[in-house]
Amino acid sequence: MGLLSEQCIESTHADYNRYDRIYASTGNKLKLLEYSMKQNLLEHDARIAPFTPTKRRCSICNKYISKSIIDHCNCTKLLPQTNNSPP
Ligand SMILES: [Zn+2]
Repeated sequence: MGLLSEQCIESTHADYNRYDRIYASTGNKLKLLEYSMKQNLLEHDARIAPFTPTKRRCSICNKYISKSIIDHCNCTKLLPQTNNSPP
């Protein structure tokens, strides 16, 4: 129980350190605290689903372009290479 609460406190501490860097330009300690609290509520609101950007797909084969996915697009390897070198 103690270890779990220690991890929660440390993760919250890291979050607020990040907010301090984000909102440092406000120059007002009270506004910094207000914005940090709002940002924390936004990030930890269970009603808001976690957001991950959609991965790009190839317009030719409709496979993922990212090479981190095993079955990714290989169309650029199949297309003939253009010669862009100067004459
Ligand atoms: Zn493709």
